[in-house]
Amino acid sequence: MLDKPLLINGTWCAPSGNRVAEVKNPATGQTIAKLPICERDDLDRALAAAEAGYRTWRKMTALERGRIMHRAAALVRDRAEAIAQHMVREQGKPLAEARGEANAAAEHIEWHAEEGRRAYGRVIPSRIPGARQMVVKEPVGPVAAFSPWNFPINQLVRKISAALAAGCSIIAKPPEETPSACILLVKAFQDAGVPDGVINIVFGVPPEVSEYLIASPIIRKVSFTGSVPVGKALGAMAASGMKRSTMELGGHAPYIVASDADVRAAAALGVMLKFRNAGQVCASPTRFYVQDAVYDSFKESFVAGAQALKVGDGLADGTQMGPLANPRRLDAVEMFVEDAVSCGATLECGGRRIGNAGFFFEPTVLSDVPEHARIMNEEPFGPVAALVRVGSLDEAIERSNRLPFGLAAFAFTRSLATADRFATELEAGMVSINHFGIASAETPFGGIKDSGWGSEGGTEGLEAHLTVKFVSHIGA
Ligand code: NAD
Repeated sequence: MLDKPLLINGTWCAPSGNRVAEVKNPATGQTIAKLPICERDDLDRALAAAEAGYRTWRKMTALERGRIMHRAAALVRDRAEAIAQHMVREQGKPLAEARGEANAAAEHIEWHAEEGRRAYGRVIPSRIPGARQMVVKEPVGPVAAFSPWNFPINQLVRKISAALAAGCSIIAKPPEETPSACILLVKAFQDAGVPDGVINIVFGVPPEVSEYLIASPIIRKVSFTGSVPVGKALGAMAASGMKRSTMELGGHAPYIVASDADVRAAAALGVMLKFRNAGQVCASPTRFYVQDAVYDSFKESFVAGAQALKVGDGLADGTQMGPLANPRRLDAVEMFVEDAVSCGATLECGGRRIGNAGFFFEPTVLSDVPEHARIMNEEPFGPVAALVRVGSLDEAIERSNRLPFGLAAFAFTRSLATADRFATELEAGMVSINHFGIASAETPFGGIKDSGWGSEGGTEGLEAHLTVKFVSHIGA
């Protein structure tokens, strides 16, 4: 499947050069495939294809586009098992999570297929007698999209679905470390009848590809999901070409547990959210600010929950947490734990690699972590929870807001007034109170401050792919 990994103008093809990237199974550390990666002339062909594809696709009605997208969604559902199996082998997450991600991809496509039909403009009463004033929404143009390895399907499908729903073509660069499920996803769109050139897929050396595509006058919009430094660099490149951009970047989500909260429920959900995808989630809770009165009981439940998790190969029965996706994360997580302990934190459980094969790390809980520890300031992106005792709600909110990140925030309380305070005062693009309520197709997903610019999903994600044209006309 990986010998012809580029999709250019409707044809799966090999790159013109002979460079390759290695694809590893994180559960074994073994190389399982070699992925041929693109050269500049492949990018030139993709750009020409996206330009031509855009002309075809934007002319089709939103209804026709939506029908094709609905067919793609159905194919993704049919092929969800194969997509999920590939995802586990290359990314490591448990099969149940991968199945959920594949089926959610179908939902994203369906929702966008419908919402594309509602790219409404408006009519503004004119001050000139007999004149008509209209605001018309048009597709922004060909999109360059860069998606990461932590949710290989989910991150890619949001970018493709929003672009297609708006009438844009796209050149997407999925992650080189987890290519197979991405290729299957795109095959579903192709088999559903998306015209040639509308979706183009390239794999390459990330900075080479992004710099070249973003600089091209053909590209009118840039969409990136990944780390803050890379997002800032790509955002600056997009801005210098006066191109629209959506940047979905890193987070460092606070998880506040007020003294009146349902502590057991907050701990159980916290364990699920923290260790999902081995913590490699931009919206993963990372800093647990727990009020004094319930700190010890929360800690006890949370640690017990973390210790009970079954870690293993994502394809093995009963696995609840798989390996980390790559050795970079293993090194980073080890560093965060050592640093926190040397700063005075208590290691409640975990803290070590598991075995010599693959990239496994124990679900780890640190308590009483001082604010100056690196894990309280840099995104951990791994299976480590940092528990902190706080006195007042003021303190919890102030500490939650002290970082330049502002992606997700979670809070638990039984008081309506306190919930309202959290909703109002937490500086984050998404605030979820007493449950996990973010990341569905119909709701905006995105951050503020360093965590990004713009949203994916919801009407906001579609708007991000539309331009405004004002038309004023008067009868001849
Ligand atoms: P990284 O910063 O090198 O890469 C992150 C992602 O960006 C990868 O998919 C990579 O291919 C891509 N990328 C890197 N440089 C690029 C460039 N110049 N042009 C285009 N794409 C580029 O780090 P990493 O080791 O792969 O991941 C670790 C960090 O990335 C984490 O600490 C986390 O902050 C961030 N990350 C965030 C998300 C997210 O969902 N927001 C997803 C994956 C990684």
